Amino acid sequence: MKDSNCIFCKIANGEIPSATLFEDEMVRVILDISPASKGHALILPKDHYANLYEIDEEVAKHVIVTAKRQAIKMKEALGVEGINIVQNNGEIAGQTVFHYHMHIVPRYEGDKVNIKWEPGELSEKDKEELVKKLSL
Ligand code: 5GP
Ligand code: ZN
Repeated sequence: MKDSNCIFCKIANGEIPSATLFEDEMVRVILDISPASKGHALILPKDHYANLYEIDEEVAKHVIVTAKRQAIKMKEALGVEGINIVQNNGEIAGQTVFHYHMHIVPRYEGDKVNIKWEPGELSEKDKEELVKKLSL
């Protein structure tokens, strides 16, 4: 399914041109228009899923395999030692385009990419509660 109001549906399906690194029947990999670092790419499914909660599981599998291949290519071609995979779900988590996408962000010495948090503490109470609530 496509969403006619969604810019990433249009990019993924070639209606809007993009700097494409890879394309097959399920996904397109493009360069981010406002990169966090040189080589920052996005993997877009061709069908519209707003986020991780909605994405089809087969498509999700294909996205991560594509990320692995693209990351290896970046490591070889750009000589980067590290790469972050980022995937935002919901406004509070930083999602700005509501068509599922995965970021692949190559990392360089001294770059300005900031994907860090203050480590907290897991209390015994939280641990007990969360294992109960979150076990699948
Ligand atoms: P989010 O914040 O939703 O996880 O990420 C959205 C990403 O899409 C941002 O990094 C932004 O730069 C990128 N982006 C937004 N519009 C376009 C566009 O029209 N073309 C490309 N190539 N990237 C886009
Ligand atoms: Zn879409």
